[in-house]
Amino acid sequence: MSDSTVQQGALKYEGKAKKMFETQNPDQLLVVYKDDATAFNGEKKGAITGKGKVNAEISARLFQYLESKGVPTHFIEQTAPGHMLVKAVTIVPVEVIIRNVATGSMHKRLGVTEGRVFQQPVLEFCYKNDALGDPLVNDDHVIVMEWATPEQLLTIRQLAKKVNDLLKPLMLKMGLTLVDFKMEFGLYQGQVILADEISPDTCRLWDVTTGRKLDKDRFRQDLGEVEEAYQEVMGRMRKVLAE
Ligand code: ADP
Ligand code: UDP
Repeated sequence: MSDSTVQQGALKYEGKAKKMFETQNPDQLLVVYKDDATAFNGEKKGAITGKGKVNAEISARLFQYLESKGVPTHFIEQTAPGHMLVKAVTIVPVEVIIRNVATGSMHKRLGVTEGRVFQQPVLEFCYKNDALGDPLVNDDHVIVMEWATPEQLLTIRQLAKKVNDLLKPLMLKMGLTLVDFKMEFGLYQGQVILADEISPDTCRLWDVTTGRKLDKDRFRQDLGEVEEAYQEVMGRMRKVLAE
């Protein structure tokens, strides 16, 4: 299928990194990935040339890989560069973060030495709410706020761990350490499925040999060569997940 067979309907939502369009099928959305980049809860704004297409391709490849290993995702197909047809889900308003190595907000919050490798992955939940600064929450918050049922929460935890168990070795094959990453889950026909994106915008990826950052931290920290880093990740992924 291509964009010519998917009717791009009304804009349902425009976020910081993507636009979500309705399609002729009420159960499906067309996601258009943008080049816009934001950091620090929208305080820093910019653009990364080519990011939309790169992130759509990386996400598409990862979703397909995860599906092939038994993880249900919202991915249907890439209909054009930068465009992705997905199942329309009800998003669980929680960012699910997995950390394998200490950095970022965990380093700031707990003072843990940057680069410390954890003996097991750390799973965190943040309430998806820009006005509140996406605060850290725990399982009890998720339940009492009715963002997910206890059963759905258990499934989210299990799927998040499984995604990490699958992506860590895959990234290693690409010469990358999967330091930490963010996932979003949604409900589709009563089932919890992986939604949103998995890309250098939502993961921290460090080159195994040099430690070079190949992710959005290059933008956040003004490290330069941002486009090149995203392209590098895509190039390595194309080789490892051959077309
Ligand atoms: P933000 O809302 O944080 O600015 P984006 O620009 O990435 O983020 O916008 C994409 C929005 O679409 C997010 O709010 C995300 O939760 C939501 N979303 C992702 N996948 C789906 C899906 N399959 N169905 C419905 N909503 C989705
Ligand atoms: N992350 C994300 N979106 C967010 C917050 C975090 O994709 O709104 C990702 C981020 O790229 C990193 C991981 O989640 O890979 C952990 O981020 P952290 O809490 O350290 O965020 P920071 O405070 O550095 O934004």
